[in-house]
Amino acid sequence: MKTKLSFANPAKQNEKSRLQIFEAIERVVYSGNYILGSEVQDFEIAFAEYIGARNCVGVNSGTDALILSLRALGIGHGDEVITPSHTAVATVAAICTTGAKPVFVDVDLDTFTLIPELAERAINRRTKAIIAVHLYGHPCDMDRLLELVDRVGIHLIEDCSQAHGAEWNGKKVGSFGSVSCFSFYPTKNLGAIGDGGAVLTNNDELAERIRLIREYGWDLNRTSLEISGVSRLDEIQAAILKVKLADLKKSIERRNEIAMLYRNGINNSEVILPTTSINAIHAFHLFVIRTNIREKMIKDFSRLEIFPGIHYRKPVHAQPAYLKYQPMDGDSLANTNHLAATVLSLPMYPELDESDVNRVIEGINNVQS
Ligand SMILES: *Cc1c(COP(=O)(O)O)cnc(C)c1O
Repeated sequence: MKTKLSFANPAKQNEKSRLQIFEAIERVVYSGNYILGSEVQDFEIAFAEYIGARNCVGVNSGTDALILSLRALGIGHGDEVITPSHTAVATVAAICTTGAKPVFVDVDLDTFTLIPELAERAINRRTKAIIAVHLYGHPCDMDRLLELVDRVGIHLIEDCSQAHGAEWNGKKVGSFGSVSCFSFYPTKNLGAIGDGGAVLTNNDELAERIRLIREYGWDLNRTSLEISGVSRLDEIQAAILKVKLADLKKSIERRNEIAMLYRNGINNSEVILPTTSINAIHAFHLFVIRTNIREKMIKDFSRLEIFPGIHYRKPVHAQPAYLKYQPMDGDSLANTNHLAATVLSLPMYPELDESDVNRVIEGINNVQS
C-alpha cells in the first residue's frame, strides 16, 4: 500500500521536531503565564530579525494581521484597497471587514502575482493601499510596486502568508511594505499547531498602534484608549513557532530542491511549470502547475494515492459573498479566470523524499489527454 501524498503534510513536520515541540509546550504549561508573555516576546524579536524588519506584533491569525494593519493605517469606510482576486479569500475578507472596498486587478500568468500597470490604472482619490499577495511563495514585483506607491502616496501592504522566506533583490519579503502580514496556519511555510499570525513593520509608531488594537485598545495601564476587540498570539503557539523558525531556512532550501526535481523530471507537454523571476528567491509554499487536463490528472493521481490541491478553484470576485465587488471597466480578470480553471498544486513540503517526488513525476508524465 502506497503512502498518501497530499499537497501539504504538517503532521510530518511536527513529528520531526516532536521532542522540542513537547518541551516547548511543557515549558509554557509550567510557567503559568499563557497570554502575551516572554514566549511571544521572544518569538516576535526572532521573527523580526529573520525577516529583517524593525517590529513584529504577534496576533491570532493572518486574517487578523491584515485587518489590524488596515485599521492601524486608518483605512475603512469610503476607502478603496487594490488587491488580486486570485488569492485566499482571507485577503479580501479582511478588506471588507474594515468597511473598505476591494478593487480587483488581474495577475500575471507566469508569477501568479498582481500586475503593477493594472494596479496603477485602478488608483483613484479613494485608493488608500495596495495589498500585494506573494502568492504560492513567489514575490510580487516589489521594484515597480514600491515606485508606484511612493509616487502616488498610498500604502503598500504585503500579504506574506504564503511567502515566509521568499526574497526580492536579496531582501526578504515582509521588509518592504508599510506593513506586512503573515499567517502561521499549520500548512504554511512556518506553521503553528493551531492559529497564529503576525504584523511586521519598520514604523515604530504603527507597531505601537497595532499592539494597542490587538488588545482592547489598552495602553500599558490597561486603560482603553480606543474601541477594539482582541487578537493575540498564544504563548504555546509562540513557543512552538520559535522551535520551527530555527528550521525555516533549511526547509525553504529543501522546498527549492524539490521544485528543481519537479522541474527537471516533469516532461508532459500538457503541463506548464511555474517560473521564478530573476530578482526572486521563491519560497515554494506551493508548487503550482497549469494544465488543461486538470480533472483527468486528478482522477489518475487518486489511483496513485496522490492528492494535489487547487488554489483556488473560484476567484474571490466569483464567490457568492463577493459578487457585488466586480473589477473596473476594461479589466476582465482574464488571467485570474484562466488560472482558476487550470492551476493544480502538487505535493510540496520539506519532508517529501526522492521516491515520493519520483512517484509524482512519473504520475504526471503518464497522464494522457
Ligand atoms: C492563509 C492565508 C491568509 C490567512 O491566514 P489565516 O491565518 O488562515 O487567517 C491570508 N492570505 C493568504 C494569501 C493566505 O494564504
